[in-house]
Parts: sequence; C-alpha cells; structure tokens
Amino acid sequence: MLTTAYIGIGSNIGDKKAACRRAIKLLGKAGRIVAASSFYCTEPVGYPDQEEFVNAVVELETPLSPPALLAQCHVIEDELGRSRLVRWGPRTIDLDILLYGEAVLNDAELTIPHPLMSARAFVLIPLAEIADEAVHPVCKETIAQLLHNLHDVHRVTLCDSPVDQP
Ligand code: ADP
Ligand code: MG
Repeated sequence: MLTTAYIGIGSNIGDKKAACRRAIKLLGKAGRIVAASSFYCTEPVGYPDQEEFVNAVVELETPLSPPALLAQCHVIEDELGRSRLVRWGPRTIDLDILLYGEAVLNDAELTIPHPLMSARAFVLIPLAEIADEAVHPVCKETIAQLLHNLHDVHRVTLCDSPVDQP
C-alpha cells in the first residue's frame, strides 16, 4: 500500500540549496517524489542567532510505514553530515514528516502531523504551494485555510527561480 506523505526540508549550513537538492534526491529511495515546492529563504525561528534557512516541502508516495520513513529520514540526515548539537540550532539538513496520509500519531519518537507545522510560515508556505487542498487530520482545515489564519511574522521569501529547481 502506498501513502502520500509530505516531508519538510531545511538547511542552514554550507551550500544549503545543494543540501536540499541532495536530500530530495535521496528521498527518492523512500518512494516516488510526486512534487517538490520552490526553495524559500527563511528567517530562523526559535534560536535567532544563526544563518537564515533554505526550506522546501516534497510530496512523497511511499510504501514505508511512519517509523520506517522516519528512520530513512535519519539515514539521509546522517549521510548529509548532520550533527545534532542544538535543538532548533544550525543544521546541514533537517527532514520532518509533516503529514502521512490521514495518520495521527503521538509516539515518543514520532508525532504526526508535525506538532509545529500549523504555526510556521516556513512550513505552510511551501506546503501550500504543492498541497493547498490537503486536510490537516486533527484540526480538519486545509493547508490553505491554515496559512490564511497564520500569524507568523518570520520572513519567508522565494529564493530560487524555477530554472534552478532540482
Ligand atoms: P527539530 O526538527 O524539532 O528541530 P530534530 O530534527 O533534532 O529537531 O528532531 C528531534 C526528534 O524529533 C527526532 O529524532 C524524531 O524522533 C522526533 N520527531 C517527532 N515527530 C517527528 C516528525 N513528524 N518528523 C521528524 N521527526 C520527528
Ligand atoms: Mg527534524
């Protein structure tokens, strides 16, 4: 059985766009990439004294279970040289499972939908670009509605023209 999942991607160390592109390519091993958003340059949230991020979201059609998909995300993070020093701090790559079909999970290692997605412009703006009609399975609102009601003042700007897309 295949499930449509949305993965949030972020990077703020080194060649950030290259890291995001490589992550998208490696995610292709976890299923079929159906769509990828533009890349966005975003102001750091939660831990402000660090470089700005590049963020994107991909739609993945995957045969993997949620824990297997998370494990695959961690393999890719390790492969791209991520070290886990500071929560919300600098990272070469961060892969978060935003939505996994209609699944609602609250395990110690895995919360789906991602708990902070509804509060973050750097997630909702790229997600709305590729999935504005997707429904958040807890609050039952579409991504477009969540974005419309969002109050997040952190800057999110397009940072790539379509020709530079992966
Ligand atoms: P953050 O993404 O919050 O900045 P990390 O990437 O270091 O922090 O994630 C810490 C842990 O969050 C991961 O090891 C993972 O077990 C857990 N986690 C819980 N829910 C999710 C999710 N939906 N997607 C990715 N990681 C998650
Ligand atoms: Mg993460």
